[in-house]
Amino acid sequence: MTTGPLGLDAALWGVLACPCPQHAPVVADELSGQIACTKCDARFNVLDGIPIMLLDATEQG
Ligand SMILES: [Zn+2]
Repeated sequence: MTTGPLGLDAALWGVLACPCPQHAPVVADELSGQIACTKCDARFNVLDGIPIMLLDATEQG
């Protein structure tokens, strides 16, 4: 198992997608320690190595 950005499994980054209608790829925001959507600017927290990919759990605006 290879560790990728934010301490998540590198393989996970290949399958992670934003739950927004575009299902856009996501990238690591190393500064905030969050996952950021490349389309809708949604952000997702990582708790204990698990990405919380819930739109209503993000702080938007
Ligand atoms: Zn999105």
